[in-house]
Amino acid sequence: MKNKGKIVIIGAGFSGLSAAYWLNRAGYKVKVVEAKSQAGGLGAGFKLNNWDWRLEYFYHHLFASDKKVFDLIRRMGLSDKVVFKRPVTGLWIKDKTIRFDSPLDVVRYPFLGWGEKMRLGAGVAFLKLWPFGVRLERFRANQALPILLGSHGYQQIFKPLLSAKFGKWADKVNLAWFWARIKARTAKLGYYQGGFGQLADDMVAFLKSQGVEFVFGEKVNRLINNKAGLLLAGEKERHEADQVLLTTPPDNWRGWHKGLTAYWSSHFAGKVFLGAQTLVLRLKKPLLNQTYWLNINEAGYPFLIVAEHTNFMDKKDYGGEHLVYVGNYLTDKHPFWQKKKEGLLDIFWPFLTKINKDLKKQDVIGVEKFQARFAQPVVGVHYSRQIPPIKTGINGVYVANMFQVYPWDRGINYAVGIGKKAAELILIS
Ligand SMILES: Cc1cc2nc3c(=O)[nH]c(=O)nc-3n(C[C@H](O)[C@H](O)[C@H](O)COP(=O)(O)OP(=O)(O)OC[C@H]3O[C@@H](n4cnc5c(N)ncnc54)[C@H](O)[C@@H]3O)c2cc1C
Repeated sequence: MKNKGKIVIIGAGFSGLSAAYWLNRAGYKVKVVEAKSQAGGLGAGFKLNNWDWRLEYFYHHLFASDKKVFDLIRRMGLSDKVVFKRPVTGLWIKDKTIRFDSPLDVVRYPFLGWGEKMRLGAGVAFLKLWPFGVRLERFRANQALPILLGSHGYQQIFKPLLSAKFGKWADKVNLAWFWARIKARTAKLGYYQGGFGQLADDMVAFLKSQGVEFVFGEKVNRLINNKAGLLLAGEKERHEADQVLLTTPPDNWRGWHKGLTAYWSSHFAGKVFLGAQTLVLRLKKPLLNQTYWLNINEAGYPFLIVAEHTNFMDKKDYGGEHLVYVGNYLTDKHPFWQKKKEGLLDIFWPFLTKINKDLKKQDVIGVEKFQARFAQPVVGVHYSRQIPPIKTGINGVYVANMFQVYPWDRGINYAVGIGKKAAELILIS
């Protein structure tokens, strides 16, 4: 069964880990090469000395509907470490936190009339039940949603989120993207004991026990194909392969090889994506009153969400600190990319103290800033016709990333799914 050939996977994020599992299982000799010193990619995290658990650089949770990742977790014997909770989600609107995570919350919502609430509830229920999401891709979300959900419901609840998340691209996003967000969402949220970086480490340990080789701290920067096969040039060494799977952001490999540059030009040039930035506040007391996730629906705020992780997971695993993300999605020239964490805190502070009037500077133990340039694809109308193929056209070279998980939004579950899909294609090639 073993020794089908040598596969090198670039990237030890969840796409790469999933592909490694399936290819190893099928009898390939698998090597995973990762630029960073740890696995987990966008789902990885950091740990301070007084914490027992790691915290993700970017807020993370799973939905109960994330079947692909739960399947992989189960296959690796790690299911015991998955926890489910039902934390509170709310909207910050008209200087108030309004709970908004169940049909009852729509009924109780104070800023819409009964007819408007019924329209909103019916529209959301329709999307939740509608099975053919891709068929909605011909509509732009910002044009279809006022009709589907009612103008006031859309203006108050979803328009601010679309605008804040996608900025100047908000009018491009198609309705299938929005459908997928509603369809996949569950009130119960899942987490992994120790954090998703811990999950990645546990997966690495499992894969190593099955014979997968890992090289960390090795940034690959060139692909050479010659008669003997494929060769990946890293900063430290060269890696020989019969086949290669690239799971890194597409801009990372576009210049690695003439054929890859041509594939990038055909399938990725012109595609738009946003970056993400979080400011993590370590506080002596809570910022939000029991709410885990607070969408900012008020115009003029310099951030999109506030997520109090320790209103989801217990603060005891983080040295008793209250940990709060202040999150944003950023276009490539946004001035926040260059800001220092203290500068960002100064900009955010007057707004944070509107949300919690009792918050004082002396409540802040520390602040951390994290950012990633490739964080959120923007999918426009008829995107299904523009999904980049996993096969690049270069013999033995494959690509898997979040531009290919459509109609689903990016997520660990879909990274696991695209990794598996790429592995299946490699198996039948
Ligand atoms: C703000 C934010 C919030 C999110 N929230 C959630 C959430 O709540 N739930 C959820 O399920 N998902 C969430 N996600 C999405 C999720 O993190 C990603 O979809 C998923 O982790 C992507 O995995 P990946 O393996 O495809 O890519 P990545 O995680 O990007 O992995 C790619 C890997 O390739 C490595 N690499 C890059 N270049 C090179 C190179 N030249 N050589 C070697 N290695 C290289 C990188 O270091 C990285 O480890 C969130 C993402 C963001 C940005």
